[in-house]
Amino acid sequence: MELYSGHINKLIEELAALPGIGEKSAQRLAFYIINLPSDRVEKLARVLTEAKSNVRYCESCFTLTDKEICPICANPKRNHKTIMVVENPRDLAAYEKTGKFEGLYHVLHGSISPMLGIGPGDIKLKELVKRLEGDVEEVIIATNSSLEGETTAMYISKLIKPTGIKVTRIASGVPVGGDLENIDEVTLLRALEGRIEL
Ligand code: ZN
Repeated sequence: MELYSGHINKLIEELAALPGIGEKSAQRLAFYIINLPSDRVEKLARVLTEAKSNVRYCESCFTLTDKEICPICANPKRNHKTIMVVENPRDLAAYEKTGKFEGLYHVLHGSISPMLGIGPGDIKLKELVKRLEGDVEEVIIATNSSLEGETTAMYISKLIKPTGIKVTRIASGVPVGGDLENIDEVTLLRALEGRIEL
């Protein structure tokens, strides 16, 4: 027996497929949406489609942006010779929130994971190497301290070493397996300041 109407079921199913949303939250959200005034629901739907069609990767650092080049890369006041490599835009946001990092970023969109079959070609590594042809003095590897993050850090360091560009790794102290976005700003800054040369 179907507990709810077909449309409600479909809505619950879509919401439940989102990360971090279980069946119960999906039901709660579905009923909330159904009870909203029509114009609010239309606005929500519009915002979703507009975000999807207008947000793209920055052509330089591959973070999500509305423009060809994101505001960080486009800012002449930032230090364009230092590039911090992070796994995803959320990690970038975590460092950006500290307000203390002056350099640029490079977003890999993942990490190397032999277990999951994710190889170097599946993340934005080629693009990083391409950027290093420019005037770059230091690459700070700020991938997570998970097994995948460490594997990726190792791989990048081996890749960059021969170019003579300084390669550093943020200090441990970032909890093992911890996502950078969940770490407080003080810990992030300490990890950045205590970075070691690879
Ligand atoms: Zn950018």
